[in-house]
Amino acid sequence: MRIVLLGLPGAGKGTQAALLAATAGLPHIATGTIFRMAVAAETALGSQVRLILERGALVPDQLTIAIVRERLVQADCRNGFVLDGFPRTLAQGEALDSILADSGVALYRAVYLEISEERAVARLAGRRTCTHCGATYHVQADPPERGNLCRRCGHPVVQRADDAEDVQRSRIAAYRRDTVPLLGYYQQRGILLSVDGDRPSGEVAADLIRLLADAAGGGGADDRG
Ligand code: ADP
Ligand code: AMP
Repeated sequence: MRIVLLGLPGAGKGTQAALLAATAGLPHIATGTIFRMAVAAETALGSQVRLILERGALVPDQLTIAIVRERLVQADCRNGFVLDGFPRTLAQGEALDSILADSGVALYRAVYLEISEERAVARLAGRRTCTHCGATYHVQADPPERGNLCRRCGHPVVQRADDAEDVQRSRIAAYRRDTVPLLGYYQQRGILLSVDGDRPSGEVAADLIRLLADAAGGGGADDRG
C-alpha cells in the first residue's frame, strides 16, 4: 500500500502516518523529520536546509526529490510506505509518480486530512516534538511523559522553532500556494480520499483505515499501489 498524506501544517499528518504505518507494518517516511534530524546532526544536508526550515519555506524540489528517491528504493519500502509531508508541490507529485513507475508500481491513495486553519494553528501552538526520535505530542490532547519526556525513547521533547507564530504563517502560505494544487491532481486521478481531521486522533485513524479497506474492496483504483 503506497499512501501519501496531505493537509495543512498541524492537520495531523504525522500523527496519522505513525498510526497507519504501525497498523499496516509499513515505513513512515516524513521529509520534515529527515530534514530536522539532518539539521540536528549538523550534516551537509542539514547545513543546506537549516535556514529554509527556520523561515518556514520549502526546500527546493530537486533536493527533496533526490532524498525521497533514495529512501523509496530501500528494501523496507518494497510493500509500500506512508509518506508524510511529501509531495508538497506538483513537481514533487509528478516526480513521485515517475519514481514509482520506474519500479512498475503506482500510488494507491492520497489521503487529505481536512481541518480548519484556526484548528491547525491551535494544534501547532501546543505541539511538542522529541529531539531524538521525532515523535509528536500535544500539551493538552496528548501530553508527553512527566511534562517533557518522550514516551517512545525517553529523550526531551521541545517546541519546534518553526511552530513559532510568525513562521507558522509562512508555512501555511506555502501550503496554500504550492501544496493545495496537489488535491486537484489526485482528485482527477480518482485516488484522493478526504477525511475529517477535526476529531480525536483515534477516530480519524479508524475512519482512515476503514476508508482504505473499502477502497481496496471496491477495486476502484489501480490496485498495484
Ligand atoms: P502535521 O504532521 O500535519 O503537521 P501533527 O501530526 O504533527 O500534524 O499534529 C499537530 C499537533 O496536533 C500535534 O501536537 C499533535 O499531537 C496534535 N494532533 C494531531 N492529531 C490530533 C487530533 N486528531 N486531535 C487533537 N490533536 C491532534
Ligand atoms: P513538516 O515536518 O512536514 O512540517 O516539515 C517541516 C519543514 O521541512 C517544512 O516547513 C519545509 O521547510 C521542509 N519540508 C518538509 N517536507 C518538504 C517537502 N516535501 N518539500 C519541501 N520542503 C519540505
